[in-house]
Formats: sequence, C-alpha cells, structure tokens
Amino acid sequence: MAVPRNRLSNARKNSRRAHHAKTPKNVISCTNCQAVRIPHRVCQSCGHYDGRSVIKVVTE
Ligand SMILES: [Zn+2]
Repeated sequence: MAVPRNRLSNARKNSRRAHHAKTPKNVISCTNCQAVRIPHRVCQSCGHYDGRSVIKVVTE
C-alpha cells in the first residue's frame, strides 16, 4: 500500500474536500396529486406517470 511521504496540511486537506459537498436531490410535484416525486419515476402516492395511471398503489 502507498505510504504518504509528507504530512498534508489542514489547508490542502480542506481544499481537497471543498468538492465533497452533496447536491440536493432534484424533486418535482406530481401533475395528478401534487405530491413530491423524483423526475422520470412513477409517482409513489398515486401511481401516475405521463398523465395516466400505470401502477396500482396499495394503501394499508
Ligand atoms: Zn401522484
């Protein structure tokens, strides 16, 4: 395994980690029930996609 020869300064370590921030997940509202859903996915609350019902949602 590779062993680092020099100690990494806090500034170098932190500037490398400046690119590690997570981006917020993109969400849109369903056109049928206005619930929040992921784009290009079937709505989890009403089962609609592209303006029509594609799956039957089981509610318990
Ligand atoms: Zn919906």
